[in-house]
Amino acid sequence: TSPALDESAPDTSTLVEQRDRAAADYATLVGRGLKLDLTRGKPSSAQLDLSNDLLALPGAGHAVVDGTDTRNYGGLLGLTGLRELFSAALQVPTAQLLAADNASLAVMHDCLVHAQLSVLPGAQRRWADEPKVKFLCPVPGYDRHFALCERFGIEMIQVPMTEDGPDMDVVERLVAADPAVKGIWCVPKYSNPDGVVYSDETARRLAAMPTAAPDFRIFWDNAYAVHHLTDEEVRIADLLALCAEHGNPDRAFVFGSTSKITFAGSGVSFFGSSEANVAWYLKNTAMRTIGPDKVNQLRHLMFLRDEDGLREHMRRHRELLRPKFDAVDRILTEQLDGTGLASWSKPRGGYFVSLDVPAGCAKEVVRRAAEAGIALTPAGATHPHGQDPEDRTIRIGPTFPDLADVELAMAGLATCVRLVGYERLLG
Ligand code: PLP
Repeated sequence: TSPALDESAPDTSTLVEQRDRAAADYATLVGRGLKLDLTRGKPSSAQLDLSNDLLALPGAGHAVVDGTDTRNYGGLLGLTGLRELFSAALQVPTAQLLAADNASLAVMHDCLVHAQLSVLPGAQRRWADEPKVKFLCPVPGYDRHFALCERFGIEMIQVPMTEDGPDMDVVERLVAADPAVKGIWCVPKYSNPDGVVYSDETARRLAAMPTAAPDFRIFWDNAYAVHHLTDEEVRIADLLALCAEHGNPDRAFVFGSTSKITFAGSGVSFFGSSEANVAWYLKNTAMRTIGPDKVNQLRHLMFLRDEDGLREHMRRHRELLRPKFDAVDRILTEQLDGTGLASWSKPRGGYFVSLDVPAGCAKEVVRRAAEAGIALTPAGATHPHGQDPEDRTIRIGPTFPDLADVELAMAGLATCVRLVGYERLLG
């Protein structure tokens, strides 16, 4: 919980004073000639260093595991040991979990391509043969999910987020009414960008709801499954099991990756689903590749070892990340609490903080910050087509810069929020 946006304005002379102080602070800020970047959710170099042992693995003479020569073609499912290791974190039985190449985004992309070109289990026809395909997009959300929809001509329907996940009354109404609604994007744990954790009831309703499309799919992008920022290892409901329980076994596509566990460019991605969906995916993927990079999978298995190894490794990430997220909250609280100009998320995990400013101000805040040398994700990126209808949400990615830079950038950003906010209140 963070302070609510308060649109009730103080009297004009107080506002003028506040605006003038913000303008003076802003002039000082610009004068410092900063060059800071809070744009993308990338791991820092210090985080990448935690996995440097990977660079020496698997090591000469370590290529064969469980009778599989990882250097050779084949093994489309991925290495069994690594699938076993991630089965619990991603809540997918090993037999239904595939380990793939370096990016879960690529697997999501492929699922959309395959659904266009090959009839999904339960579908009447390929999506390419449908007059229209629509996806529900909880907002704020992840820009690359929306970019995939744009790429494939999928119409995006915005659904507001709540503290428990997407507004399920809206979701249920839309999926029941329109057979063109074929999917929904979900980041169920520590969502990008507002850190929301889907409640068990949200997951249950997603699994159980009647859909007009027989081939409706939940794209369950569990990108931050083990990325806790507190001592609490937040658990979410097991969506695959819930879907099966409610008679919709083929409804969920589960995605995950080690991008923010080991190396963001050289990790391992995962795909999990029902037996029928996994068979469908494998049949199509077999046309695209003879097998994934199993040497990379082997070195990941040797490096992370087991669930305890994974947990310990993520604890080290948390030690590096927590001070940055604490700094974001502390500086926003010091500078903006009680102003009525901002509210922000306090994530328990993941990579982002979502900052809400008064309606119509987000683009201007980002522009002013850029002028002061602080790069932020473009306002609107959290919404389909880069358009935030309220122009209110700013995504903050504090993971990549070092702590001192995060502090400088946040103080600068808060100054921009005060400046733009008070200017707006004064009309
Ligand atoms: N999904 C979400 C929600 C993300 O925030 C990101 C990266 O920021 C990704 C997927 C990308 O994952 P990958 O590196 O496995 O493609």
